Formats: sequence, C-alpha cells, structure tokens
Amino acid sequence: MMGCMTPENLLSRFKKLQLWASNGQRAPHKPLLILWAIGRCLQGEERFVSYQEADRELSKLLDRFGPHRKVVHTEAPFWRLQNDEVWEIPERNRITVGPGGNAHKSSLLQEDAHGGFPKDIQNALQDNNELAFQLATDLVDAHFPLSMRDEVLQSVDINSEYVNSRRKRRDPSFSPKVLRAYGSRCAVCNFSVRVNGKPVALEAAHIKWHEARGPDKVHNGLALCVLHHRLFDKGAFTLSLDREIIVSEYAEGKGSNLSLGRFDSKPILLPAKPDDWPSLNFLKWHSREVFISSVNTITSI
Ligand SMILES: [Zn+2]
Repeated sequence: MMGCMTPENLLSRFKKLQLWASNGQRAPHKPLLILWAIGRCLQGEERFVSYQEADRELSKLLDRFGPHRKVVHTEAPFWRLQNDEVWEIPERNRITVGPGGNAHKSSLLQEDAHGGFPKDIQNALQDNNELAFQLATDLVDAHFPLSMRDEVLQSVDINSEYVNSRRKRRDPSFSPKVLRAYGSRCAVCNFSVRVNGKPVALEAAHIKWHEARGPDKVHNGLALCVLHHRLFDKGAFTLSLDREIIVSEYAEGKGSNLSLGRFDSKPILLPAKPDDWPSLNFLKWHSREVFISSVNTITSI
C-alpha cells in the first residue's frame, strides 16, 4: 500500500536509530547500513540489495568506522531494521530465526535474501533528495564525531558538502576553555604554533564523544593538534587511567613512530588544576568504545 509520507513522518521513523544504548556503548551498525542504503538510493540504484552484497559492504564500513570487535555481525542490523519499520526483506518468511530474534546468517545467504527501504520511504527519498541529505545528516551527526563525518559520508557515496550545510553549531565555549586549560599546547606532542598570537591547528577533542552524550566540560576534553585529534578519534591511541599514552598495536606505516609510536607509555601534559584533568570515567569509555586493540575487544553487535 502506498501511503503519503510527509518529510516529518519519514524523519521521525528513523529517530530511534539516532539513540545510543544507555551505557554509551557504540552501535553504529544500523546507522551505517541505512547511510549506505541512502547512498545507493541517491545513486539511483535498485530498491533491494542482496544480503551478500550488504554483508560485504557493511563489514568494510564497520571495520573502518565501528568499534573494534572480534566478530562483525552484519545479519543483526540487516534483519532487525525490519522492526524499526524502515526495512523490508521480501524473503523474510523463508529465513531461519534464532531464539534471540536474529536471523541466521547462513539462512540469509542460502535463501539469497534481499533488503531495502519500504516503497513509500524509497519513493520519498528519491523524489526529495533534500530529505535524503537531511536524514543522512541526522544519522551521521548522531553517531560520529565531526572529525570522522566527511569520511563516513564519502565512503557511502553521499556528498558531504550538502550535509555540512545543514549542521547546527555546538557549545562555542568548549574549545577555548579546553585550550586555555592546556596552555594552548597539544597534550601529546606539545605542539604550540601561534600565528599573530592565535594558536593554529590546535583543537579541543572530546574524550567521550559529544555524540555519546559526553559533556562539553574541560575534564572530558583534551587539547590536541589536528593530527593527534584525528588519531585519537580513530582509536589509534588512548590514555591509561594514569593518563599515559597507549598506542594501538594496529597503528603502523611510514611516520607512525615519529608522530605516534614514540609517545607510547609517556604521560600527557596535564592542566594545572587537577579538576580539569581527564576524568577516569570518560577515559574508560574511550578505551572501551574507540581504542583499536586486541586486548580490549568485546564481542557484541
Ligand atoms: Zn600533537
């Protein structure tokens, strides 16, 4: 049945996917699958895509942008999006479902299951690309820090320029407060270049991401140069509870020792006031949800 779907109705159907688990655990699986499907829709691809293809592409996206996990479960988001009423699987009656309510991956493959937006959503997104960009903005902003959003969007063929123009501004005092507390130096490498008296290429990073409801407080911030900010948000390093730098064993390549490896096990530069030091709760979150490490991995969807 073809309902008439207003933009508000459509965006509100996806609202649930913008929520995080109450313990702040990252679950970018559904958002990444939807973003990928929006990208396909904008490229004028067919409504339904095989699970086999979705599995391959979503696995790559989760490897790049998801938390580090031993096993990546693409079947769970592919199947469970149906419950959110934003996904259809025509072959659903033939699929074997386990006691936890998840489809068996082998069954999805064997039955050559396909998935895609329901027809009314697909039509609305195709007729109104503005709406597709708005939905992409909502999802990417809800789950990824600013430093990663363009890369996420590009990887699913969504033009990030359209998305960036829709963004709201955040608490403008967070960054100056953090930079001041750290004496306008990178907490990792001491970088501190000023041009005309103003710090350049120095940023305030959230330890627990803003998107995960990390507060705009100095004890949830770190002053980092642009390079160390990117590396921190990607989980190439984290901080121990003693506030020492722990470099991921997965960080490698030319320049990685010079720019990162040599700081391993070194303490960061701390603000003068202990109240401003990175708080242990937020450090634990970062090491659990962002840091790429074989030691710290949890199996989870
Ligand atoms: Zn630095």
